[in-house]
Amino acid sequence: MNLSETHPNAHDVLRRVFGYPDFRWPQLDIIDVVSQGGDALVIMPTGGGKSLCYQIPALLRDGCAIVVSPLIALMQDQVDALTQLGVRAAFLNSNLDAHGQTRVESAAINGDIDLLYVAPERLVQPRMLDLLDALDIALFAIDEAHCVSQWGHDFRADYLELAILEARYPSVPRIALTATADRRTREEIAARLGLDSANHFIAGFDRPNIRYRIAEKTNPRPQLLKFLTAEHRGDAGIIYCLSRKKVEDTASWLSDQGFTALPYHAGLDARTRAHHQARFQREEGIIIVATIAFGMGIDKPDVRFVAHLDLPKNIEAYYQETGRAGRDGEPANAWLIYGLQDVIKLRQMLESGDGDETHKRQEQHRLNAMLGLCEVTSCRRQVLLAYFDEHLDTPCGNCDTCLEPVATWDGTEAARQALSAVYRTGQRFGVNHTIDVLCGKSTDRVRQFRHDGLNVFGIGAAVEPIRWRSVFRQLVARGFLAVDVGGFGGLRLEPSCRAVLRGDEAIQFREEAKRTARRLTKTPMPTEIDVGLWEALRERRRELAEQQGVPPYVIFHDKTLQEMCARLPRDLVAFGDLTGVGARKLDKYGAGFLDVIEEYLTSPTIQ
Ligand code: ADP
Ligand code: ZN
Repeated sequence: MNLSETHPNAHDVLRRVFGYPDFRWPQLDIIDVVSQGGDALVIMPTGGGKSLCYQIPALLRDGCAIVVSPLIALMQDQVDALTQLGVRAAFLNSNLDAHGQTRVESAAINGDIDLLYVAPERLVQPRMLDLLDALDIALFAIDEAHCVSQWGHDFRADYLELAILEARYPSVPRIALTATADRRTREEIAARLGLDSANHFIAGFDRPNIRYRIAEKTNPRPQLLKFLTAEHRGDAGIIYCLSRKKVEDTASWLSDQGFTALPYHAGLDARTRAHHQARFQREEGIIIVATIAFGMGIDKPDVRFVAHLDLPKNIEAYYQETGRAGRDGEPANAWLIYGLQDVIKLRQMLESGDGDETHKRQEQHRLNAMLGLCEVTSCRRQVLLAYFDEHLDTPCGNCDTCLEPVATWDGTEAARQALSAVYRTGQRFGVNHTIDVLCGKSTDRVRQFRHDGLNVFGIGAAVEPIRWRSVFRQLVARGFLAVDVGGFGGLRLEPSCRAVLRGDEAIQFREEAKRTARRLTKTPMPTEIDVGLWEALRERRRELAEQQGVPPYVIFHDKTLQEMCARLPRDLVAFGDLTGVGARKLDKYGAGFLDVIEEYLTSPTIQ
């Protein structure tokens, strides 16, 4: 693309090429710095719009921009998306044969490429450095920059080598980007990539379009089914489970229920995994049921929900997994159900896992923070962000506790009774037996151990067993009770429970109401727009995507289709005003979609 004759500015490019009316904060500031040759370190949440921060400077500056990205599987999609916009983009990675590689290299040398995506391990190879020496380089963009941090979980040794860019090409601007915001990682990126004196742009961590919901696990399958049928028919989503077996079972059960659900875990062979991931990425409405092995390398913008059927082991994991929802900025759900069994299982797993005592203790602390998030009765987003040292002044209004405030009840007496029952029965029995004792149930086991003779026998008979379960879950979650790690789930008192036992400390419990969090208001709402037109437009998009071998969202995002429904453009000028329609897409697809709209408007069945 040759933009230089017209001396365009960043706004022109945004409108003409990308078809967006305005920048999001702080895109323009970043683009200004980098276009003028400055360095930048950019921390922006997933879906915040990081790509434009280097793509637009790449188009504004002379020469070819080099984009370093670890996600080889995604390069094709990124290049496809840019090509659709009329931007000259290409990639160099191990998926190219020798011939393809030579072709891309000569195109770059001839000045025919604006953005060149390169895998990190390739960048510092002699052949690549020779190529770089021969090029006029517009800038270096280092995507997923947290991979340089040994502290983080995605560390890649290849990233350390990127330090050579500063030494070798001191006058070429460098921009490093990541969504991982914690201070330690940030400092490490700056130090390792020589960006200490660069401009730092930190756009915060919040994902306001994601609705966080955490409910008590009672009947997982019916709960999941209700959630999916009521709110996510036809949507793409990810369901996380802890074990491979549960992944398999859940996927096949969902298929029986009429969903397209595919399993994904490390026990499947590489071909099946790649196939399932590709279908998820390219088709619409696919549900992936996965262990945490599914994650890195997913760049699908229209994932409408992430559901957890098991408790993640810390808030970092929860935030990263839920963060895969709603990258396009449209409303999305993060839905988690958990119960006492999850807490027990995770505590045992952490305790029996590898690592020294210090490590285990840290992991338990991190699990405690996760449990704190589950049990909190105030805004969940405030707790989440606070965990990452970010402060949110007012409750968010888009989490379950904001939408349906949680009732609490004074559990001081119940807690005391529960703890006494654990103590009197000898601190080695599990929850079920302890509840039998509290409720005065004369089971074989109760008689065998003569627990019917204890003074705690039956003291809690006025309270439903199900409520007692909730009490025990909350006592374990808050660390008043520990669970035996030997495998039998025996309960033990923790020193912190003394004040509660004495009745000196008041305790409030969450009320497990049959809460039905308000449904997510998604656009398109079938009631607001015509479903017939919406489906016809989606069908046209599907045809085009298939013809070109790209995912449907590379043609147009849902948002653009929604605007077509709402604004019913009838000519190219009006069509060009839609969000996401730049000059090239207007040219290529305008007429095709206008036909669909015209046919709809003139069809005799329309009133
Ligand atoms: P990130 O890499 O930060 O996760 P992307 O760069 O993929 O995010 O952008 C997320 C989505 O937001 C993309 O669909 C992108 O086209 C869209 N987007 C980015 N900037 C803007 C903007 N200024 N106006 C409208 N949409 C935008
Ligand atoms: Zn909230």
